[in-house]
Amino acid sequence: MNSRRSFLTTLAGSTLAFHLLPKVQAAPVYDGPVLRVALMGLGGYANRVAEAMKDCKKAKLTGIISGTPSKIKDWQQRYGIAEKNCYNYDNFDTIKNNPDIDAVYVITPNALHHPHTIRAAKAGKHVICEKPMAISAKEAKEMVDTCNKANVKLLIGYRMHFEPKTLEVIRMREAGEFGKVLFFQGLCGFRIGDPTQWRLNKALAGGGSMMDIGIYALNGARYMVGEDPVWVTAQETKTNPEKFKAGVDETIQFQLGFPGGAVASCLSTYNMNNLDRFFLNGEKGFAEMQPSTGYGPIKGRTHKGELTQPHIRHQTIQMEEMADIILQHKKPIVPVDGTEGWKDMVIIDAVYEAVKTGKKVPIKY
Ligand code: NDP
Repeated sequence: MNSRRSFLTTLAGSTLAFHLLPKVQAAPVYDGPVLRVALMGLGGYANRVAEAMKDCKKAKLTGIISGTPSKIKDWQQRYGIAEKNCYNYDNFDTIKNNPDIDAVYVITPNALHHPHTIRAAKAGKHVICEKPMAISAKEAKEMVDTCNKANVKLLIGYRMHFEPKTLEVIRMREAGEFGKVLFFQGLCGFRIGDPTQWRLNKALAGGGSMMDIGIYALNGARYMVGEDPVWVTAQETKTNPEKFKAGVDETIQFQLGFPGGAVASCLSTYNMNNLDRFFLNGEKGFAEMQPSTGYGPIKGRTHKGELTQPHIRHQTIQMEEMADIILQHKKPIVPVDGTEGWKDMVIIDAVYEAVKTGKKVPIKY
């Protein structure tokens, strides 16, 4: 039966069937502003960020800056990046004239964050800079000042500040559910491989494990306790001076004192695996997280039970939130701005000072 009537009958039937189907809620289409980002330094972490950004609605990868021409070709194909949005370290100041890029995300080795951030800011672009934001508090301050002067935002890649289970512990602390906070323990480390990599080169890394992984324990101590520490003591141990040369710390234990009376005990190391654990103790309860800062899923529990918030890819949620912070002036629950990063650098300077002098070092911001 291939008539007009049979067609109409089928159409009516299918329309009826459609109306009888349970209603599926269509995801709302996002039509707000989009942060157009150029990633600088196409290494391991930039690859992770780029993949995670595929799921972003509010942030989009539109440009790249790399010293390796073959990577530029490869990334252009993988992410559909226009030729005019590709730069190298010699010519990227001309990004100033590129209206397709709002922000530069600096993901180069630590010691390059300072010059790269300053150049991007002077080119009039907002900057997202990876941790550690610099290799000293002095450099960090210069970065903050330059971005302020250029009237661009500076954010640090503190992905844990957007992680749902972490934010739940912070909410509980702010609601007084742990009572007065007394103690934090942060253990962060991994066993590092290849001795020739930049992470073990003082000139590019600015230090050793403390700069790279210990900063998670340090920054975690601040957002878990909810205060900035006022003193530090620290001790360094080195089992392999051949691999961990002068100025490159293998293992540092450090203790922090907070204005409210809480203390923290932290371990930063390049010599142990399976070390990713936070413990917060207060007068009325506790929180423990393990893993606490890895790419997740983060796992944890408090005195009230298991933390059940969903796992969201850290870099996806970070870039969504950072787009809102930059374009909509959203205020994050835990700050991720340059001043937040500078405080960590002030504390890291004090940790190294405490290692060197063996003394209790006051921390002045
Ligand atoms: P990689 O070595 O994998 O990548 C760094 C990239 O920087 C290189 O691939 C290269 O890219 C570029 N680069 C420019 N100059 C140099 C140089 N002189 N020596 C080496 N590389 C150079 O490092 P990661 O991606 O692991 O780390 C980069 C930054 O990201 C670090 O500051 C690190 O602390 C941070 N990071 C943050 C993480 C987080 O979870 N927030 C996780 C991992 C790292 P190109 O060839 O394109 O120029």
